Amino acid sequence: MSEKAYDILRAVFGYESFRRGQDKIINHVIQGRDALVLMPTGGGKSLCYQIPSLARGGTGVIICPLIALMQDQVDALREVGLSAAYLNSTLSAEDAAVVRKQFLQGQLDFLYVAPERLLMDSTLRMLQQARVSLFAIDEAHCVSQWGHDFRPEYLKLSVLHEMFPDVPRVALTATADIRTREEILTRLQLDPANMFVSGFDRPNIQYRIVEKNAPRRQLLSFIQKEHAGDTGIVYCLSRKRVDTVSQWLNEHGVNALPYHAGMDTGTRAKHQDRFLKEDGLVIVATIAFGMGIDKPNVRFVAHLDMPRSIESYYQETGRAGRDGEPADAWLTYGLQDILLLRQMIDSSDADEAHKTVERQKLDAMLALCESVECRRTHLLRYFGENPEGECGNCDTCIEPPEMWDATVAVQKALSCVYRTGQRYGVGHLIDVLRGKSTDKILTQGHDDLSTFGIGADLDQREWRALFRQLTAKGILIGDEEGYGGLRLSERARPLLQGKQNVSLRKAQESTPAKSAKPARLSSSREEIRFYCAEDEILFEKLRRCRMELATLRGIPAYRVLHNVGLKEMVECRPQNLQAMQHITGMGSQKLKQYGASFLQVLQSEGADTSASYR
Ligand code: ADP
Ligand code: ZN
Repeated sequence: MSEKAYDILRAVFGYESFRRGQDKIINHVIQGRDALVLMPTGGGKSLCYQIPSLARGGTGVIICPLIALMQDQVDALREVGLSAAYLNSTLSAEDAAVVRKQFLQGQLDFLYVAPERLLMDSTLRMLQQARVSLFAIDEAHCVSQWGHDFRPEYLKLSVLHEMFPDVPRVALTATADIRTREEILTRLQLDPANMFVSGFDRPNIQYRIVEKNAPRRQLLSFIQKEHAGDTGIVYCLSRKRVDTVSQWLNEHGVNALPYHAGMDTGTRAKHQDRFLKEDGLVIVATIAFGMGIDKPNVRFVAHLDMPRSIESYYQETGRAGRDGEPADAWLTYGLQDILLLRQMIDSSDADEAHKTVERQKLDAMLALCESVECRRTHLLRYFGENPEGECGNCDTCIEPPEMWDATVAVQKALSCVYRTGQRYGVGHLIDVLRGKSTDKILTQGHDDLSTFGIGADLDQREWRALFRQLTAKGILIGDEEGYGGLRLSERARPLLQGKQNVSLRKAQESTPAKSAKPARLSSSREEIRFYCAEDEILFEKLRRCRMELATLRGIPAYRVLHNVGLKEMVECRPQNLQAMQHITGMGSQKLKQYGASFLQVLQSEGADTSASYR
């Protein structure tokens, strides 16, 4: 490993060691070779191009599709004492000219460019006139049509290879199933030998998928019991739902803010900014929120609606626990999710080939939801890994679901769908099966059917779980109008004829027993285990000091220093700058900027306690 890389890691970024995978990639790129880096969100991809770029000299050019994030990334680099700038459509002509000049004079360590900007002739010409250390292609899955964020401009990025054959390219992404990977390699003309796959596992995230009964109440109770006062993200499918859910949470004492593309830009930006800078806020959002959000202490990501693919699910849940501390990914889903998402695909104006892909992805997501094996194993396998054993940190590991032989019940259900004319929703079907004499049943004469009352042995919840699973398996399908009526598919026939046995997952208790993990205190407390009251007091003081430093500079607290750093200060109590330098995250720039303030807190502590002993 090059000494230079270690020096930069310690002096600039203030880290002691590389994470698994980083050293190999960095070494490889420093030598001028291309790389495709596949690492989960929070894995530490940025260093994989930042350090080689600094070691090679020249400006590292980062292609980033998210304009909203460039500012953030540039701020972060400046915070550690590097010079960085961006070029995108939000810059005035004058400001862009300043950036160009800085680049041409070799003053920039890093330059962020939006893809459409990069591809402009003027930009490409500019890049040829100064030294580029490397190209980093962030969110590289955007080049894939199979992927979920396809950007046509990304296809043209192969121009880099042609125009700058000697400049290494580092493509990075957190989402890449095997097909996407292959597509990135081909489209960017990268050699498969240059692919680095880090384990996709996020062991500190606990995965849980629960049946949807009363989603808002379920969510509230999850937050109140396990995450009171924590920072979290709640994802909903529609804007309207975002608004109602965030209002509901506020009415119930949870500090929540809405975020979706229908809000005006100003408010949206304000909410994102507050989320980044404050602690203990819950943002309720559509998937418009979060690309590239690198807030480290998000303690939970909750999905009130099912995502349409495992890629989306993994990317969204990946925003939890980037600091490596325990975090939760909680999803509630039910029959309506399946019907709605299927309906959305069917009625979209995409071409058939695209729809087929979408359907396959949805089916994979459904299989995850209905899975009785370890969720993590299931997820990792989807991303091409082959983990051994079970994780012990997901709902199916903690509370293995029970199966039951549902052959007869399934026959009853399917026959009820058939006899009522294949157009009723699950509520009515269950009423018929359970023999309820509702108005609807009486006016339709459904009390005369042979299936009326033949299912009184199962309760409402059990029938719901059964209908949901039959729909997830594609045995029942939604009506074309999208009103929630159910029909039989071809697959129903052998079951109706009793030629095939079915075993299904048992319905969950309405109050899911969630016991393996003890109910937790707010984890801002839990993140650090205090040995004594002095530690706790000191930590609070350091936090306050960090907050003041952050407010003064108008940046989020974690940008000053992560909790890990504060925790280490409590443990080691450095008394001078020399010792302070070993705290994680304290690079030379931060040491200069913040070291003295933290020292003051640490030293005053010594004074306090000795005084109190006297
Ligand atoms: P992503 O892979 O999602 O882009 P980042 O590059 O943002 O992840 O890194 C995630 C977090 O991990 C950041 O806060 C970063 O500072 C931290 N990190 C990365 N590499 C190391 C390391 N070697 N030692 C300590 N912290 C690291
Ligand atoms: Zn598991």
